[in-house]
Amino acid sequence: MNMPTEPAVLMQAEGQTSSVASDPTLRDRLIEAGILIDTGENGLYGRSEVFEDVVDRLNKVITLLGADQSAEVLRFPPAMRRHDFEDSEYLKSFPDLAGTIHAFQGNDRGHHRLLEALDKTLAVGDQERSDEWMDQQKPTRLVLTPAACYPVYPLIARRGKLAEEGAIVDVFAYCFRHEPSIDPGRMQMFRMREYIRVGSPAQVMAFRQKWIERGSALVRLLQLPFEIDLANDPFFGRGGKIVADSQREQQLKFELLVPVATPNKLTACLSFNYHMEHFGEIWNIQQTDDSLAHTACVGFGMERTTLALFRHHGLDVTKWPEAVRTFLWGDAAPMIADALARTGTNA
Ligand SMILES: [Zn+2]
Repeated sequence: MNMPTEPAVLMQAEGQTSSVASDPTLRDRLIEAGILIDTGENGLYGRSEVFEDVVDRLNKVITLLGADQSAEVLRFPPAMRRHDFEDSEYLKSFPDLAGTIHAFQGNDRGHHRLLEALDKTLAVGDQERSDEWMDQQKPTRLVLTPAACYPVYPLIARRGKLAEEGAIVDVFAYCFRHEPSIDPGRMQMFRMREYIRVGSPAQVMAFRQKWIERGSALVRLLQLPFEIDLANDPFFGRGGKIVADSQREQQLKFELLVPVATPNKLTACLSFNYHMEHFGEIWNIQQTDDSLAHTACVGFGMERTTLALFRHHGLDVTKWPEAVRTFLWGDAAPMIADALARTGTNA
């Protein structure tokens, strides 16, 4: 199989992120300013009007950036069918990150036991709370969505064979990953906007290359320092390193990295993923010639990109650079048209 090589050309072209520091005080400053709201649980935040306004505006410029794709817009709740999740092989790679949904499904006796266990737990201090009451909880048929694109592949498969031009889908959802952290760039619940391409290897590769360029154009318009780099997913366990190495070797994943809050480390704000026929095979998504469809997705980390904007332009959005304000609060369309003309990826 032909492996992608084009992105390597881009990697050397980008700005000097190493000279721009990430800011480990960002979380505290955002909470103090009331922009993020501390819930008492690491990685779970409330969002203020100011924060949400930036997320909304970012979402809008991403829509403009992808307007020529005529993507099918689909919105899913932050949960997916457990059966589809089981099929997805997510648990093979990331068992530690998954979140399942449980609910009480018992009778009166079970309810009694639940309340007894709950009383016991409430009687002890905050620190020693036990989860004994959860013995009464049983799995539901839903799990939390681990990545915004996951509900899309089984859906496309259920529709039957792809058309000649394949499919492009636009999704936006809260996602869950069980990785409590005080790094605001590592939330347990966060939003991902994604464009997903399903089709032939050539269609899918062209899509990913286009979005590496467009994603870079977006972040340039946001005036954030960044790098594009080869990456791997955090595969679990002893076998995980081998899978991660192979993912790198085949250049399946690239990330757009910005210094945000992690000390001495850049944060992936956008990712460009080529899954080859992985999802096509699991759900038997077929191209017109009966061969398995390939898939790719570009993911925009909405919270991470928003955090990056606060990190680099300050907590007062009225003082952000004029061009960034025009881009987000003014008329972004001509700026995007201009940027697309320059990347040569306009339609
Ligand atoms: Zn995806």
